[in-house]
This record gives sequence, structure tokens and C-alpha cells, in this order.
Amino acid sequence: MYDYDMLVIGSGPSGRRAAVQSAKLGKSVLVVEKGRRVGGVSVHTGTIPSKTLRETVLNLSGWRERGFYGRSYRVKQDIGAGDLMARLQKTLDHEVEVLEHQFSRNTVRTARGEARFVSPHEIEITSDAGEKRIVSAAHVLIACGTRPFRPDYVPFNNTTVFDSDEIIELPKLPRSLAVIGAGVIGVEYATIFSALDVAVTLIEPRPTFLDFIDKELIDEFMHELRDRNVALRLGSAVNSIEVGENGRITTKLGDGRHVTTEMLLFAAGRFGATDRLNLEAAGLKVDHRGRIDVNPATLQTEVPHIYAAGDVIGFPSLASTSMEQGRVAACHAFGLNPPPPPEYFPYGIYSVPEISTTGLTEEEVRKKGIPYEVGIARFRETSRGHIMGLNSGIMKMIFSTKTRRLLGVHILGEGATELIHIGQAVLNLKGTIDYFIENTFNYPTLAEAYKIAGLDAWNRMGR
Ligand SMILES: Cc1cc2nc3c(=O)[nH]c(=O)nc-3n(C[C@H](O)[C@H](O)[C@H](O)COP(=O)(O)OP(=O)(O)OC[C@H]3O[C@@H](n4cnc5c(N)ncnc54)[C@H](O)[C@@H]3O)c2cc1C
Repeated sequence: MYDYDMLVIGSGPSGRRAAVQSAKLGKSVLVVEKGRRVGGVSVHTGTIPSKTLRETVLNLSGWRERGFYGRSYRVKQDIGAGDLMARLQKTLDHEVEVLEHQFSRNTVRTARGEARFVSPHEIEITSDAGEKRIVSAAHVLIACGTRPFRPDYVPFNNTTVFDSDEIIELPKLPRSLAVIGAGVIGVEYATIFSALDVAVTLIEPRPTFLDFIDKELIDEFMHELRDRNVALRLGSAVNSIEVGENGRITTKLGDGRHVTTEMLLFAAGRFGATDRLNLEAAGLKVDHRGRIDVNPATLQTEVPHIYAAGDVIGFPSLASTSMEQGRVAACHAFGLNPPPPPEYFPYGIYSVPEISTTGLTEEEVRKKGIPYEVGIARFRETSRGHIMGLNSGIMKMIFSTKTRRLLGVHILGEGATELIHIGQAVLNLKGTIDYFIENTFNYPTLAEAYKIAGLDAWNRMGR
């Protein structure tokens, strides 16, 4: 009756996971992607490019070795934009190749073009050349993601004033950079450029930032940024941004201060890429940020055979959670009802240094009125930390004093986004402080911090 069992709009993490899952269930699948190559924001402008850039910067700048050899240590002296691009291109090519192979192995069909609804079961696909065709599907997954918010007052020019999709292709490295927006993306790029000794000013209209992270970690993080000369302008609204005749960019702040820099990154928010989907024809609507409302358990929209997943449904807007949403949507569409996901997922922020967190923050524990104790470990207390020359890095664990259960883990420092998974496993398996006290950890490792933080809390909690 329909051309396909499942049609997926967008080939980012949620779309591709849904497509492969549907194919593994023996269903016919078409993925429609308007971009030049499959992969989505995640592969082409977001997750993978920013993390590749970060890795390249840390390697070429010798950042990880500076604890030993001093702040002036460099692996490569004159790092240019070309050095950063070379590794990026190779990584992206490899990612796309793996994806294409995954699709072909699983007989997932792809169509290059822009999708829009003509009815709840019919999608029109327009190719770059303007050719149109209509395909029908029993189920549709909207996995179109987001695009950067580009307000009119920002003079974007793709040479000195960028949004977060454009910055990965910057033509040269600036001596100074203003970053507007201290969300995850802004903080990541601000700290990556600062690791290259670019003079960075991070501007945020709100007085605080990354409010979902444990405050003690953010205090520590801010201290590290200031120590590295990252200028923080918190609580400063932007009044105007002007490119002067000399090409320099002046950002005028509400408190009267001016920030003049060679380049500017505007990273204050993203919008659902839903405006060209003709959602009315499908009987769907969006909120003020172009996002679609779904049932979080099934990922169904208000039209039951149409699902939405990934960034287009809003928080947490991560590639990791998007993939899981895609899988759940596909399973539900074809009658498999996967159990609800575990309560806690990890949040990773690839700033320099990394931040990763799972479970409740101390502020949340207090708000819930749970009696608790905190254990802290500093990476410089571990032998691995000595070997690596780490001067910073902190792990904070929170335990219930009533049940002894782990409530949250918060890490700032080298390897945080990998280390967090130990805490995540204990948390979701409802483990207690005794796990950390009784188990043996590899030595010398940074994971040993779990034991140190556990003992720190245990010393205060007693048996
Ligand atoms: C700078 C940056 C860094 C990030 N870092 C991380 C990180 O470290 N870890 C992490 O987990 N997440 C990270 N994210 C978030 C992550 O990239 C997103 O959560 C993820 O890409 C969302 O996946 P998605 O399935 O919504 O699809 P997306 O990756 O957003 O892709 C959507 C695709 O749909 C296509 N599309 C849109 N409309 C149509 C249409 N009408 N027809 C056909 N195709 C269409 C687009 O071309 C695009 O290819 C980062 C994001 C950014 C911007």
C-alpha cells in the first residue's frame, strides 16, 4: 500500500539509528537527506568537527604536556587554520564512509533532496536540480535537527563573524575572539581557542552559565578559565555588533563596556529546522523555537504514525541521546516496545578541560531534601595524575546518607567524558558507596579517583 515502511527525514544520529533499526526488523526504509553527504549536523558541522578540532588543538599545542613543560610548551610552533582543517577533512571522510557502508549493509535506501509533507503519509522530495517526486510511507520519522539562530543585528560575513556551523571552516586563526553565548557550544569553542593562546572573551547575558551543572564544578571551571586569561563577561547583554573599517569587530554591551576582537562567534541558540517541512499538511505544529512535541516514551507526535527524534524535539539535544530516541521510535513503530531508558544519561561538555556529569547535582539533592554527603577527589592526588603532570581535575560524588546510594557524579578534567560511565553504571544499577570502597580499580588510573572520592565521603558518613 505504501512505497516504504519507514521514511526518515534527515540522516543525523536519530535518523540513521532509526533507519538501521527499522531495516534490522526487516522493514523497507528510505532516508531523505538534503545535505551533500549523509551524517547530519553531528558529522558535518557539530559533534564530530568540534571534537576533531579540539583533539587537533590539544595535540598540536601540546596542551596535555604543559603541566610538565610549562605554559610556553608547543608541539608545533606556528599552528594555522590549515593544520586544523587537514585532520578534520580526513575524520569526516572516514565517518561518512562508515555511515554509507552501514546503510548499504542494511539495505537502507537514501535519497538526496529536501523533504516536505504533502499529506500525513506522503512526502515530496525536491532534488538540487529542482526535480520533484512524491513517495509514501506507513511511518515517518522527522529527524531534521536544528540550525543556528542568526538574529538580524549580527553582521555574519563568514570571514570574521561566524555562527557555530561556519566556525569549523574559519580561514585563519584570529589573535582575539569574542564568543557570544555561554551555552555548551559557546563554552566548548571559547576554551578550544583559548588553548591555542587566542585571547578569548566569553559574553553571556545571564549572570550564570551551564546552570544544569553542579555549581561547585562551575566555580572551579571559572577559576581555571580566569587563570588562563579567558575574559568572562557574564550578565552582559549585547546592544550591538559592528565591523569597523579596519575589519575589527566591536561588541557593545549593555553595561557600557566594549569588546573589540578580530573575530566573533555567535553561538546563542539553535532553532528546529522545521520551517520548510510543510508540517500543516501532516497535521503538525511547532513551538516558538521550531520544535515538535512528542510523547517521550514512544517519540510519537500527535499524529501517531509520525515520529520525531533528535534535536528537533529539544532537550537534551545530544548526539548520544538522539541515537537512542531514533532506536526507540523505530522499535515502537514496528510493534516492539523497548523498556523505558535508564533514569540517568551522561552529559559531556568537551570544553578544555572537559566536564561530564550524571545524576543529581548538589543543588538538586538539597532541593529534594535528601540527606547527603559529598566525596571529592582531585586528579593530582592520583598516581596517574602525577605521571600525566595534571595540576587540575576534580571528581565529586554525592551519596544519600540514608540509603548509601550514589546520587550523582560530577567530573571536571582530563578524561571526564570517559570516566563518567563508571558512575553512570553504578547510578543506574542503584549502587551504593560500598561499591567504590570494596572494589579494586586499575592502578595507576584516573578512575582511581572514584575510590578516593568514595573514601572521602565514607570517612564522613561512617558505616
Ligand atoms: C558545535 C556542536 C557541537 C556538538 N557537540 C556534541 C557532543 O560533543 N556530543 C553530543 O552528544 N552532541 C553534540 N552536539 C549535538 C549533536 O550534534 C546533535 O544532538 C545531533 O546532531 C542531533 O541529531 P539529529 O538526529 O537531530 O540530526 P542532525 O545531526 O541535526 O541532522 C539533521 C539532518 O537533517 C537534514 N534535514 C533537515 N531538514 C531536512 C529536509 N527538509 N529534508 C531532508 N533533510 C533534511 C539536515 O540536512 C541534517 O543533515 C553538538 C552540536 C553542535 C552544533
